[in-house]
Amino acid sequence: MLTVTATGEETPAASPGDGGRSGVPQEAARRRTFGVISHPDAGKSTLTEALALHARVISEAGAVHGKAGRKGVVSDWLAMEQARGISITSAALQFGYGDTVINLLDTPGHADFSEDTYRVLSAVDSAVMLLDAAKGLEPQTLKLFDVCRHRGIPVITFVNKWDRPGREALELCDEISTRIDLTPMPLNWPVGEAGRFRGVLDRDTGEFTRFTRTAGGATLATEETMGAERAAEEEGADWERAVEESELLSLSGSDFDQEAFLSGKATPVLFGAGVLNMGVRQLLDTIVRLSPAPAPRVDVEDKARPLDKPFSGFVFKVQTGMDPAHRDRVAFVRVCSGRFERGMVVTHAQTGRPFSTKYAQQMFGRERNTVEEAFPGDVVGLVNANALQVGDTLHVGKPAVRFPKLPSFAPEHFSVARPSDLGRAKQFRKGIQQLEEEGVVQVLRSDRRGDAAPVLAAVGPMQFEVAAHRIEAEFGVKLLLDRLPYRIARILAQPDQRTIVDRSGRAEVLRRDRDGVDLALFPDPVAVGSLQRLHPELKLEALVAGT
Ligand code: GDP
Repeated sequence: MLTVTATGEETPAASPGDGGRSGVPQEAARRRTFGVISHPDAGKSTLTEALALHARVISEAGAVHGKAGRKGVVSDWLAMEQARGISITSAALQFGYGDTVINLLDTPGHADFSEDTYRVLSAVDSAVMLLDAAKGLEPQTLKLFDVCRHRGIPVITFVNKWDRPGREALELCDEISTRIDLTPMPLNWPVGEAGRFRGVLDRDTGEFTRFTRTAGGATLATEETMGAERAAEEEGADWERAVEESELLSLSGSDFDQEAFLSGKATPVLFGAGVLNMGVRQLLDTIVRLSPAPAPRVDVEDKARPLDKPFSGFVFKVQTGMDPAHRDRVAFVRVCSGRFERGMVVTHAQTGRPFSTKYAQQMFGRERNTVEEAFPGDVVGLVNANALQVGDTLHVGKPAVRFPKLPSFAPEHFSVARPSDLGRAKQFRKGIQQLEEEGVVQVLRSDRRGDAAPVLAAVGPMQFEVAAHRIEAEFGVKLLLDRLPYRIARILAQPDQRTIVDRSGRAEVLRRDRDGVDLALFPDPVAVGSLQRLHPELKLEALVAGT
């Protein structure tokens, strides 16, 4: 069983005399809170373990590479999730690395990813974009990258699996630049083509770091760093080529620029092989050196809340039913300001009611550790959080603070929901409302369809399964779901144009409960295009993932 320990207590904590706030900016400054965005199979779970290994939180990574063996790290608490061996929910892994406290937020990575995956990105300060060296940018990576770009999250790119045959390094950089208009700024450059990984050329120092394989990646990869002269002698043509390509990059304006990174225009790029722990240390060091520490978060009044104000945070995820015996409800809160202490009574901004944090935990997968204190950038799991919903704010002191609601994301899957037993219509209604409030699914309605059969909308179809599972377990209603043929939603900017869409025969307009936005649903891009050609006056707006 893996044990993840919080490291916050190893260093002097903020002094309690002033409400414990004096050391908060310093505590925040040494935190790095990020998530990994990738397509399934790019190696996210493996990399997560490798990162934790380097931070010496877990001593043996080799033993947990199999899907079955890594349950301690991957969140897997729902029974359904276990049966599938995939991760539906997400939480945070915290570990210390030197003086830095790393918070790695888990972004569920299956093809059936959900709104939760996107929402995690509202709680990170930066992201690592993980690419498979043979595949480059893949669909799910692109979607998640869109959210990062929209939210202005700086992205570091890690090209993984360099130990296996793959594409050319320059070609991968070119793809990043042309497809997502992000300037690649390689910090190191691979020596040896994909499949013959010798090590990396550090583009800053000009030195060569040679990686040596260790059996199954079970221990830290052996590294040897040497000057260019010796590298040229020992690596010959591989070294020459790396140097030439690196010079070419400098000529094309790919040298590092921190401002361009922070503003989301450019991405530092690193090469490695997570499974062999190669390049993982370099990635961790880069995160520590370049990624931003938690910054003051802007509230609904557009005012940034200083880090040393009393505690505040927002709920970015609510998880129910993790423990079937107790059916507890956990709200994951990202701390934005102040010092969080377990047991403190905070105010729930949405209701003005007090909320006791006696049962504060840190969790990742099945591991739960009671958390005693937390600082900006950290994630705290609050148990028994029945009143808390996704996007809610918690704070201490007056005046009250509220952070903006989390955005809804562009749904791509739609199902009509009905109760199997009409006698339980009331429970059904309550259940649907609850799921909508928690952000499990989006709920859409129209007069035409009537209130008895709302349409559930989701980013990934697995949200429907979670919804059905929840409604049955908690409200005793079996859900009947009929999939609708739509895959695309557009905002209908002018409500009086609803009939144009409804009469088209292939599309319809539904209103979203959450924000009252009218969404026009279409089966495919062709249907959108042909209706627009027929009715040039029709105003449709794209929903960016992350709006
Ligand atoms: P995830 O779906 O993104 O979490 O990916 P996993 O971590 O499960 O990795 C998918 C597969 O790729 C597994 O079989 C890993 O062992 C393998 N893998 C991950 N990283 C590397 C790497 O650096 N090199 C090679 N050759 N295989 C890797």
